[in-house]
Amino acid sequence: MNINVDVNDFSQVIENDRTRIWHHLTQHKKFETVDPLLIIEGKGLRVWNQAGREHLDAVSGGVWTVNVGYGRERIANAVRDQLVKMNFFAGSMGTIPGANFAEMLIAKMPGMSRVYYSNSGSEANEKAYKIVRQISHQKHGGKKHKILYRERDYHGTTITALSSGGQQERKGMYGPFTPGFVEVPHCLEYRSQWGEVEDYGVRAANAIEEVILREGADTVGGLILEPVTAGGGVIVPPAGYWERVQEICAKYDIILIIDEVVCGMGRTGEWFGYQHYGIKPDIVTMAKGVASGYAAISCTVTTEALFEEFKSDPEEPMSYFRDISTFGGCTGGPAAAIENMRILEDENLLANTAKMGDYLVDKLEGLKGKYDMIGEVRGKGLFVGAELVADRETRDPVPESVTQAIVGDCMKNNAVVIGATNRSLPGLNNTLCLSPALIATKDDIDEIVSAIDEALGRVTAA
Ligand code: PLP
Repeated sequence: MNINVDVNDFSQVIENDRTRIWHHLTQHKKFETVDPLLIIEGKGLRVWNQAGREHLDAVSGGVWTVNVGYGRERIANAVRDQLVKMNFFAGSMGTIPGANFAEMLIAKMPGMSRVYYSNSGSEANEKAYKIVRQISHQKHGGKKHKILYRERDYHGTTITALSSGGQQERKGMYGPFTPGFVEVPHCLEYRSQWGEVEDYGVRAANAIEEVILREGADTVGGLILEPVTAGGGVIVPPAGYWERVQEICAKYDIILIIDEVVCGMGRTGEWFGYQHYGIKPDIVTMAKGVASGYAAISCTVTTEALFEEFKSDPEEPMSYFRDISTFGGCTGGPAAAIENMRILEDENLLANTAKMGDYLVDKLEGLKGKYDMIGEVRGKGLFVGAELVADRETRDPVPESVTQAIVGDCMKNNAVVIGATNRSLPGLNNTLCLSPALIATKDDIDEIVSAIDEALGRVTAA
């Protein structure tokens, strides 16, 4: 049988890609003049393209995912062994890796208790929203149904996850959105909405309370926040913010959902981003780093108290959580996640992340002295952003073309893949994003920063 594909012939693969694939986040017009880039192989922090050129990946697979690096045979072997034995069963039946990973995960999350599996960050957040909605119906006659989300945060791509997204770049042209989602202001002090205020963190958190009071506290059931905002500009929350948020949620009986899809599984130097701030969440969602991209898996983790609400009235046929995710029954995900977590522990990668993250921030701060274009460097662990400005005084962001020129220069001249926050958002399209795998060494960081240094030199001279 002629299947019309020779996997060793990259020219054919490129043609198949060009003519058959609809890429994520891509304006395809460009592929009329340039070839799509294929990533053929990966090891550690390095990947190789179709021409055999090596790249240093400073963004963990483009979207903060490959936390333990490429080419991990022990994960591949664990997944293979599991799939041969038992690949899938969904619904009320359990599986060995599902149960065992849940136990390992909860051991890292004091105060949390139950793990609900699905496949993507968007889906994990949708589950959280459904929990809030069902609690609203069960306890508040459906009235406490609104869910607050924050400007600049992102929680996923489905229409309802987008309805809770604070980035217009992602939302434009996809409305109308799901009702019941309400935006609260962001907490980026560098771009304060209230001018210079003494206690910016408390001010920004109080803005959440203002929205709650405006909407009516009896209508607000949930609040979703990223512990450190990712695609919205690598926003590390200001001092005092989280303490006040926690108080507000307790005061108005609001379910606090922490979206750890990016920050989770070591990215910030703790197992979870929220653990830096002493937060006590009701729900934590996670995806990307859970299995480092070796398998698709996401988790919606809740407290026991929240879980108990769903079995409190067994006589009521609608009272249990009537949700299913077919591929939440895949065993490859938790099998990969178990090995992924063991690697993080065996190689002491949380400590490495904290240390290398500080080193990366220091190096970028050094560049700040050299280039006025770097307005602010911020980060937590190996999750770092450098915001670029046209003028340090006014903090006007550089045009998107400048950010893209720097990203493009790093790739072209030094084969270093770096990221940038979303396009077309005023003040948002100007942050370089760096999030190498958590195995990064000082040499890797030096290579990344020197590529940025050279790129800034060339772009500012042009
Ligand atoms: N939450 C955050 C913070 C994210 O950054 C993302 C994706 O980038 C998501 C949720 C959605 O995850 P997924 O793309 O797996 O649906």
